[in-house]
Amino acid sequence: MPEIQSRDSKESMSAMSIDHGRHFLQVPGPTNVPERVMRAIAAPTIDHRSPTFKQFAGSLLERLPRAFRTDSPVVVFAGSGTGAWEASLVNTCSPGDRVLMFETGHFSMLWHDLARRFGLDVDYVSGNWRSGVDAEILADKLAADSDRQIKAVAVVHNETSTGVTSDIGAVRRALDDADHPALLLVDVISSLGSIDVRCADWGIDVAVGGSQKGLMLPPGLGLNAISEKARTASKTATLPRAFWDWQGILEANGDGLFPFTPAINMLFGLKEAFDMFDEMGWDNVLARHVRHGAAAREAVAAWGLELQPANPSEYSDALTVVRMPEGHSGDALRGVILDAYEMSLGAGLGKLADRVFRIGHMGAFNDLMLAGSLAGVEMGLARARVPFRKGGVQAALNMLAEPPTEKARAAAE
Ligand code: PLP
Repeated sequence: MPEIQSRDSKESMSAMSIDHGRHFLQVPGPTNVPERVMRAIAAPTIDHRSPTFKQFAGSLLERLPRAFRTDSPVVVFAGSGTGAWEASLVNTCSPGDRVLMFETGHFSMLWHDLARRFGLDVDYVSGNWRSGVDAEILADKLAADSDRQIKAVAVVHNETSTGVTSDIGAVRRALDDADHPALLLVDVISSLGSIDVRCADWGIDVAVGGSQKGLMLPPGLGLNAISEKARTASKTATLPRAFWDWQGILEANGDGLFPFTPAINMLFGLKEAFDMFDEMGWDNVLARHVRHGAAAREAVAAWGLELQPANPSEYSDALTVVRMPEGHSGDALRGVILDAYEMSLGAGLGKLADRVFRIGHMGAFNDLMLAGSLAGVEMGLARARVPFRKGGVQAALNMLAEPPTEKARAAAE
C-alpha cells in the first residue's frame, strides 16, 4: 500500500487505512470508488487479444452510449479528461479553424489554452466565472458568422471550478435557429453519471468524458462519444494526431479489440460501474444528485454564506461551490477541515484560488455521506473562525427527511 505524506508533513498515513476512521473524499473528482468497482479492478489482468477479452469489451462498448443518451459509438482512451479534450479537437479540426468557446471558469480556460496550442483560431467569449454559456451571445456570434467560418462550438457542461451547469439545450437551439453547421463539442467530464447528459437530443457531436467523477471509477479513462457528423468531419480534419486518432480505435472496437493495450482493469471497473447504474436505475441516480444538490445548497443558505453560481437555474447538482466571506481564506479552512476531520474539500482554482471551497457530492454517495460532509464543513467553519450562522446541517437534514422534490422526481422519469 502506498505511503502518502499528510498535509503538514509531520506524519505519514496509509492511503487507505487511516487510524482514526475513513477519509472523506469530498473533492469534486476524483470521487469515492465503490468497493464493488475496486474489487472488479483487482481481478487478474487478461490478454487483451484473447477471445474472452474480445467478448467482454465488445459487450461493454455496446453499453457505453447509454451513459451519454446516444446510439453513437464511444471511444475509450487510457488517459485523463485532458487527453479526451485533445482528442475531440484533433479529430475534428484543422490548423487555423475557428472555434467558439465561452469563459465559464477554470476548465473552459484550460480547454481553450489547449485549442490555442494546436493553432486553432479561438474566439473566447469572456465571462465572470459565476454564470454559464450565454445562449444570446452565442446566437449573435452565429448570426454574425455569415460565411460560416466557425468550425466548432466547444463548451463545458458542468464547470467544476464554479459549480455552474450550462444549458446545453439552449446552445443547441441557438445553433439550429441560426441554421449553423458548426460542430458542437461538449465537456461532460463532471456531468456524466451525475447530471442529465442528452447527446442525441442536444445534437452533441463530441461529448468529452472522464472516469473519475460521476462514473464512480478512479482516474484513468477518457471518453469521446462521437456523432456521425463528427466522424465525417474527422475524415478531412488535418490536425496531427496519432494516439488520439478515432479511426483505428473505432475499426478495432468493431471486433472488441483496441489498436493498443487498453486499460484492461479499468474496463473491468467500468463494466461493474455500469452494472451498478443499471441496478440503481440511471434516472434514480440523477434524481439522487438533484436531491443532494438541493440539500447542500440549503445548508449553505442556512450558514449565511454565498454560492459561487449567480443564477439558480444554473446551480450544479454534482458539487456546491461556496464563496468565502471577505478576508477569509478558503485554503486555510480546507486545511483545518483536513487536519481535524479527515475530509478533503475541493480547492478554489485559477482566479478563484483561496476565494472558494468546493464540496463534491457526485458519484457513489448517499444521504449520510452528505450529512457527514456538511457536518465537517460546519464544524470546520467554527474552528477556522469563519463568520457563519449555525444550523446548515440541520437545514440539510430537514430537506433530506422530506420526500424527493418535483425536480428530483422529474429527473427520475
Ligand atoms: N473538465 C472538467 C469539467 C473537469 O472537472 C476536469 C477535471 O476536474 C477536466 C476537464 C480535466 O480532466 P482531467 O483532470 O481528468 O484531465
